[in-house]
Amino acid sequence: MEPLSFDIVIIGGGAAGFFAAINAAEMAPEAKICILERGKDVLNKVRISGGGRCNVTHAEFLPKELTRNYPRGEKELRGPFHSFMTGDTIEWFEKRGVPLKIEEDGRMFPESNSSETIIDLFLQESKRLKIELLTKRAVQGLQQKNDHWEISTSQENFVAKKVMIATGSNPKMWNLLQDLGHSIVPGVPSLFTFNISDKRIKDLPGVATNAVVKLKRTKLGTSGPLLITHWGMSGPAILKLSAWGARELSDKKNFEIEVNWLPEISSEEVEAELLRLKKENAKQFPHKYAQFELPKRLWQSLLNASGIDAEIRWADLNKQQLEELQQQLTGGSFQVHGKSTFKEEFVTAGGVELKEVNFKTFESKVCKNLFLAGEVLNIDAITGGFNFQNAWTGGYLAAQAMTAL
Ligand SMILES: Cc1cc2nc3c(=O)[nH]c(=O)nc-3n(C[C@H](O)[C@H](O)[C@H](O)COP(=O)(O)OP(=O)(O)OC[C@H]3O[C@@H](n4cnc5c(N)ncnc54)[C@H](O)[C@@H]3O)c2cc1C
Repeated sequence: MEPLSFDIVIIGGGAAGFFAAINAAEMAPEAKICILERGKDVLNKVRISGGGRCNVTHAEFLPKELTRNYPRGEKELRGPFHSFMTGDTIEWFEKRGVPLKIEEDGRMFPESNSSETIIDLFLQESKRLKIELLTKRAVQGLQQKNDHWEISTSQENFVAKKVMIATGSNPKMWNLLQDLGHSIVPGVPSLFTFNISDKRIKDLPGVATNAVVKLKRTKLGTSGPLLITHWGMSGPAILKLSAWGARELSDKKNFEIEVNWLPEISSEEVEAELLRLKKENAKQFPHKYAQFELPKRLWQSLLNASGIDAEIRWADLNKQQLEELQQQLTGGSFQVHGKSTFKEEFVTAGGVELKEVNFKTFESKVCKNLFLAGEVLNIDAITGGFNFQNAWTGGYLAAQAMTAL
């Protein structure tokens, strides 16, 4: 059978693939464009993203600040974000009838609070722009012949002038790209929670507070809300640390973290405050009232860990107990013995080596007329809408380059 011929073939019907296809079709209305998707449905990750609400982007409007949320890709995305970033994303969706709203923590969602709104928009736009959408087409082979690409799928074959790979972190596609001469950084999980079995937090699931968490024996540290769970610790501070430490932690089951439960004040200030409490609240029991605005159960648990039981008064605290309490408050060590994938949202760190990509166009430097965007690249971010922003930015700039004369 004769191969089907297109100007642009986009492999992967996910966030980056659809964004590239729609923009390319608008920029070059005459171009014949198709999306090849291996599954029977498209945009599956968009559907389940953000707990079904789709955290589309993050209200951070300075390119340099935005890049700080990418443990991998920070340097490379700075240029692209100058061309297409948050403000452009908001405008893009708004112009097409999907306004976004900002939540208190900066995450942005469709006003409808439903990822289906994004999916409906993408499907509607693809139809309007006559983008051929072919599902159940797993791409199995990719070869460059003279001035065109030959693409073989589980069904028919295709030829195209330009190909874009937007297959996320699918290892089979990474293998195909390796055969084409690309280097692949092996995939490891990012965004996971820590399993910790420790008396200090055992009875506190559900307690949340701001903290600074450091990975011991490294320079890595993050801050933000920390949530105590039934199995250990979670929340933005932990997820961020898992993302920045994804490589270091990939082969480690056991490691140690240090938690500062009082990130807003210095150790010296904590020490001075404890001495003041000892003096001024001499007759009171430390267990009775939580200090430093800590959740009461956490405060009591840290007192117990410092050898201060409910019968002891402030006046009776000895030097060792005060020192231990200060240590527990500002730098307690916790042994982590395993990781759990955060079911709501996780990404894979790894993918096409970034130095092999031109970040003005998202074109491969190894193969001409081959474009790459989204998670197929060795780019990933912490939670908050940044992973999709990478897909939109890459998709948009690749569309521009693929349709340029
Ligand atoms: C549960 C969950 C929730 C998330 N929530 C958010 C969120 O709210 N905000 C955020 O920013 N990020 C979120 N993320 C991360 C985000 O979903 C991804 O970063 C983003 O989807 C990556 O887009 P992509 O287009 O590169 O890849 P994908 O969305 O993974 O799309 C790749 C597509 O390519 C197809 N494909 C793969 N191989 C082939 C092949 N050989 N032939 C044809 N097709 C192929 C796949 O079937 C898939 O449809 C979440 C991730 C998960 C798992």
